[in-house]
Amino acid sequence: MLTAKMKKLLTVLSVTAIPLVGMNQTALAKTTTEKVTVTASYLNVRESPDISGKVKGIVHKGESYKVIQKKNNWDQIKLKNNQIGWASHAYLAPTNHIGATVKVDFLNVRQGPNISSPVIGKLYWGAKIKIQAEQAGWAKMVSSTGVTGWVSEIYITKDAPEKDKHQTQPAASKTTTGKKAAPNQDKKNSSPSTKPSQTSTVQMKTESFKTATNQGPLGGKTIVLDPGHGGVDIGATSITGTHEKTLTLETAKAVEKKLLDEGANVIMTRTNDTYIPLEERARLSNRNGADAFISFHYNWIQDSSVSGLTDFYFQKSRDNELASKILNEVVKTTKLNNVGTRYNNLSVLRNNSQPSTLIELGFLSNKKEDDIVESDNFRENVAEGVYSGLLDYFSNK
Ligand SMILES: [Zn+2]
Repeated sequence: MLTAKMKKLLTVLSVTAIPLVGMNQTALAKTTTEKVTVTASYLNVRESPDISGKVKGIVHKGESYKVIQKKNNWDQIKLKNNQIGWASHAYLAPTNHIGATVKVDFLNVRQGPNISSPVIGKLYWGAKIKIQAEQAGWAKMVSSTGVTGWVSEIYITKDAPEKDKHQTQPAASKTTTGKKAAPNQDKKNSSPSTKPSQTSTVQMKTESFKTATNQGPLGGKTIVLDPGHGGVDIGATSITGTHEKTLTLETAKAVEKKLLDEGANVIMTRTNDTYIPLEERARLSNRNGADAFISFHYNWIQDSSVSGLTDFYFQKSRDNELASKILNEVVKTTKLNNVGTRYNNLSVLRNNSQPSTLIELGFLSNKKEDDIVESDNFRENVAEGVYSGLLDYFSNK
């Protein structure tokens, strides 16, 4: 991130930079590859980027032009006769370049690019939109039905770039490398039985967002799964030498699969062996308004006779019901000891604004328990238990 001092220095450097070669350019101008559409009935195109510049042409409402560069509030555009000139940016709007498709049942359209901005519209599964601008995970868009505003990019999938048209401007942005719009989205209504396999993925760094069709017992619920530790943070090491970070990831993946099959939107804080700061894990839950956040861990203690499962809460009124319902069900499916739920001041819970819990899935320091928890079968049982616990939890909401 730039400091204020650096920004100032850069500004000074910009202003003193040698003028670019071109028409009447006296200061630095920004080059672009964007296209703009005229929004005024008539718009003068001038020789220089100021109101006193000589008029060299007129453009009309709805016409699209390529922007060569921008300066202050002026865009230098290429006219149809290949001449170039400056037009006031106030009467030019970005021409849509990137198409995308809505991938949730309901998507709020907001006035601004943040979750607290007023909802001004709604879009539905499969709606086609055009992205006009992007900002911190939000897209300013217009839908094919004319709805305009900002939507969270988590819930949309960008179309693949069109080969011939957008060579200079790939449609996929830096933050989103979505698979192209699901070709089989129409199946959603015609064959509900295909539910489990219809998922779309948007990968942001190591996080993953998968959206099922929202059909099924957990339809419409957003669950954040947090495999504990990762990367340089290996967590505990089991008697057999397995790192906790490996077991938590495998467990979370098994749970993810189960929850997707049951219709939930699942967000993983990591999908590979990467270090993710604890605060970031909680933030992911907050940003997405998770209905539940579950962090997976395995325990270790000097005394190798200790065993059993514990589920932690931070804010009892908010978290304990989630913690105890999941714990009870996981104890049933895994047949391990129930040590009960407990308060713990843990970062992923403390910094969470959503119902959240951290489950310790047995002791890697106990020979008997370690043998059990390192098996694939165990992870399947955990997945079943977490699912049943969530069902029980949501049945009360
Ligand atoms: Zn741990």
